[in-house]
Amino acid sequence: MNYENSLNFAQSLDATDELAPYRERFYIPEVNGEDSVYFCGNSLGLQPKSAKLIIEQELNDWANLGVRGHFEAENPWYSYHEKFAEPLSKIVGALPSEVVAMNGLTVNLHLLFVSFYRPTSQRYKIICEAKAFPSDQYAIESQIKLHGLNLDEVLVEVGPREGESCIHHEDIISAIEEHKEHLALVFIGGVNYYSGQRFDMAAITEVGQKAGALVGFDLAHAVGNVELDLHDWNVDFAAWCSYKYLNSGSGGVAGAYVHERHFGEEVLRFAGWWGYNKETRFKMEQGFRPIPSAEGWQLSNAPVLSMAVHKASLDIFSEIGMQKLFEKRNKLTGFLEFLIVANAPEVKVITPADPNERGCQLSMLLESGGKERYEALGKAGVVADWREPNVIRVAPVPLYNTFEDVYKFGEIIGSNN
Ligand SMILES: *Cc1c(COP(=O)(O)O)cnc(C)c1O
Repeated sequence: MNYENSLNFAQSLDATDELAPYRERFYIPEVNGEDSVYFCGNSLGLQPKSAKLIIEQELNDWANLGVRGHFEAENPWYSYHEKFAEPLSKIVGALPSEVVAMNGLTVNLHLLFVSFYRPTSQRYKIICEAKAFPSDQYAIESQIKLHGLNLDEVLVEVGPREGESCIHHEDIISAIEEHKEHLALVFIGGVNYYSGQRFDMAAITEVGQKAGALVGFDLAHAVGNVELDLHDWNVDFAAWCSYKYLNSGSGGVAGAYVHERHFGEEVLRFAGWWGYNKETRFKMEQGFRPIPSAEGWQLSNAPVLSMAVHKASLDIFSEIGMQKLFEKRNKLTGFLEFLIVANAPEVKVITPADPNERGCQLSMLLESGGKERYEALGKAGVVADWREPNVIRVAPVPLYNTFEDVYKFGEIIGSNN
């Protein structure tokens, strides 16, 4: 696409944007009495206006029905989580039985590691990205300790080469080859939270499994943002949170995916009653019999209030479909990149230039004065995100950001150098 550095051009793109009306469905936080340029949907997605109503429905049903709400509420609580199988399956490219909304992301990672990191004396190593999101690092570290193993002998981290910010795909592949005899698990973020780099999940899965390992992904920055085809890629497991691109509110209910080949009762897990076979759950007998689906990893009954917000948001995704979001994403982020290069050439975008290797986020590295620059952006109405030591992350979200937002950002970044 040929971009132009003008407000007219940005407005003409908005005028023909089929998704433009969806901005109205969200609350846009203001700065200085005006709509902010909200580029922080990669950290906390905006609130759908429908969220309040849908929570109210549950509060009213609770007030009026008490315990009867489990079966008689407008959206019965007993089976509330089942509403998410269909929409989540479309977003992550899975069978409806392979996905479940439950818990928080880090909790889900632990549950999945318990099932899918089963080290033996022969196979015990884990390959992951260097400087993964801290919670992922801590989860992996504690899982390794749980098995009485030594971090240094188990963990193989693949990082960027000297002086670079992104990881070479071939370096991940060659690490898998190099450690294949002892490899138990490959676990990587689908999109790196810091650099915005998207990994070739299909290829990593194929090579990892060929090496005899299981392969899982943290999709916190991928879900609702990039193309996912977990089932067809044959990914073993994955988890994500819902408050970033999925706009389901801070600490909102997270999600998990398990490939259907792992549904069997023999797969070890930390169990709870909500994962128990539904037909016989209320016989309350001894001996755990899991639901033969991703639901078999559930522990507790559905947190309906947080799921209500999740529903408000996923209803919007279902209405649009992911494809249109991806098309707008590429144009929006492409425009952003064009304007940064044109207006602020001293800013280095470390996110890959190839749209297939990124989502909507761009990470800007500032050699000096980064923090001041970040604060100046904030004063001028941009909501972005600062990551030590020198990176500003900006994410124009196709669901509610406009080309005019991107243009305004370009002007602001160009004027405060
Ligand atoms: C946002 C994020 C988390 C956050 O974990 P929670 O359990 O939701 O608090 C974890 N991992 C990654 C990669 C993230 O981007």
